Amino acid sequence: MTTTRFAPSPTGYIHIGNLRTALMNYLIAKQAGGTFILRLDDTDPVRSTKEYADAIKEDLTWLGLTWDREETQSTRLARYDAAADELRASGRLYECFETPTELDLKRKKQLNMGKPPVYDRSALALSDAEKDVLRAERGAGHWRFKLDHERIEFTDGILGDISIDAASVSDPVLIRGDGQYLYTLASVCDDVDFGITYVVRGSDHVTNTATQIQIIRALGGTVPRFAHHSLLTGPQGEALSKRLGTLALRDLREQGIEPMALLSLLARLGSADPVELRRSHDELIQGFDLSKFGSAPTKFDVEDLKPLTHKTVAGLPFSEMKDAIAELGVPDAIAEDFWAMAHDNIATRKDIADWWALCRDGATPLIDDEDKEFVETAMGLLPDGPFDGTTWKAWTSAVKEATGRKGRGLFMPLRKALTGMEHGPDMSKLLPLLQNISRG
Ligand code: GLU
Repeated sequence: MTTTRFAPSPTGYIHIGNLRTALMNYLIAKQAGGTFILRLDDTDPVRSTKEYADAIKEDLTWLGLTWDREETQSTRLARYDAAADELRASGRLYECFETPTELDLKRKKQLNMGKPPVYDRSALALSDAEKDVLRAERGAGHWRFKLDHERIEFTDGILGDISIDAASVSDPVLIRGDGQYLYTLASVCDDVDFGITYVVRGSDHVTNTATQIQIIRALGGTVPRFAHHSLLTGPQGEALSKRLGTLALRDLREQGIEPMALLSLLARLGSADPVELRRSHDELIQGFDLSKFGSAPTKFDVEDLKPLTHKTVAGLPFSEMKDAIAELGVPDAIAEDFWAMAHDNIATRKDIADWWALCRDGATPLIDDEDKEFVETAMGLLPDGPFDGTTWKAWTSAVKEATGRKGRGLFMPLRKALTGMEHGPDMSKLLPLLQNISRG
């Protein structure tokens, strides 16, 4: 049974980088007919909020990435207490009293001496009496997991064989001085208890994984498989971290980006497979293969979402747009023709509003000086209506006859006079939809 999880902290909105992680975990679970868990990593009571948790769920739901089960770390504190006790009893958790400033100073000294800034374990040498004194002076200490100094090895689903020397890593802090459990302990307990079989997350977690493997073993749990995907960069390879704030999923939604455009791009970006528009989750699942993803940083360009979005909407059947079109006030009788005219001329589905405004109200005509007379003559030849699909052809033939103009010189001034634009839909489809034509 495959079980995966997406584990965001509800301390902000989820962005394109989070989506990559969520999607990979979702696809792996779905491909195997397994379980996809949404886990809210809310052990930080100050920064975690219900608003962000709700927003995360709303964003995932918008994308159709629905979860089979939801878990919340803040409800599991008793479990983390028990795990901490177990680790204390087995001598794997020890109390430390260094202040952040002291730790910083130690790190700087080590770096100056050309050594890796690994915690020196001086707290291990404290006697009980010394700890009592420190506790009285500084309050409760924080607790570190004592790593076994051996090589930690695992086969990563993307990066291949990984081997990390535990001695090159600081003993991770699992509990803060104020008693707050840190992500590492909570995550490990949850992965074990929820039967997670595959953990996919960003490559910034590789070292965490090494330490987590030891903690899982110390708690008697089964170690899942791991895969670490590369991090996204901007189009020039620049770090995306600073811009992620502007790449929140809700902002992209606001801009009219389509869910399937986002999913199609992120389900393949950075893999050996081409990015192409997929129209259903089944199409995303088919052929998804984690081993095809590369380890190099993956360039992400938000612009790439635009053609995919256009393609998504342009290909939507009328039935899917019917309600949105009716909401604009387009009469039922012409709604389907309206979509047939507009579908290929919109960047996002919101743009149908502009086309309806043009059909309803008409455009400000764009008439070049040299075309003034021509347009006037043409307007005089425009039949009274009602118009249908043959009107444009009949009208332009009559105009051609009367003026001798043809080709672009004939069609473009008429398009500009009727739409105020140089580009746009097939005029034979648009003309019958114009409710209000200024005949000059
Ligand atoms: N809350 C963690 C994060 O967002 C989860 C990492 C993980 O998948 O274990 O970084």
